[in-house]
Amino acid sequence: MSVTNHPAVAAFVGIGGNLGQARTTVLAAMDALAQLPQTQLIASSPLYGSAPLGENADGPNYVNAVAQLRTTLSADALLRELHRIEGAFGRARSYKNAPRTLDLDILLYGDTVCHTDTLTLPHPRMHERAFVLYPLFDLKPDISWHNALGQRVSVCDLKAQIADQDISRLD
Ligand code: AMP
Repeated sequence: MSVTNHPAVAAFVGIGGNLGQARTTVLAAMDALAQLPQTQLIASSPLYGSAPLGENADGPNYVNAVAQLRTTLSADALLRELHRIEGAFGRARSYKNAPRTLDLDILLYGDTVCHTDTLTLPHPRMHERAFVLYPLFDLKPDISWHNALGQRVSVCDLKAQIADQDISRLD
């Protein structure tokens, strides 16, 4: 475990899974996030169901949600913890967009903008995904961030662009 004096940051984590008991897995992942060191779970979004997206994407529909965390873990340490949780749920990294038991992404880590071999923030595809933007909107309707061009974008601005995606709120 890394111990830091990092200031507390609001981080948003995207959660998704489409194999096995996906709903149960997503809820259990939420619990695992709440138990991370140096971290509090501030809010969890409702669950959504969405069709697999992207090249080679297949398998059953995904269950998706977003968690809002407050953490003093660095972004790299948080990513390592997310990979550990994915592993604990049996995630195998086979091919791009392959069906997966559990996928955890850092969407936003405070206002951090970065691009390294292992981490891009804000998450590079979050702005085009209904399964991210809908639950994010539920948690924080006024949230905004910088896109890859350095422009400030808000979840409200983006909602019209993803209106055709197949997504539904689960009970
Ligand atoms: P995936 O297979 O979609 O879970 O992609 C995981 C890979 O994306 C990992 O190897 C990460 O290092 C990398 N990655 C880059 N930026 C992010 C991010 N913001 N959140 C999670 N993973 C990221």
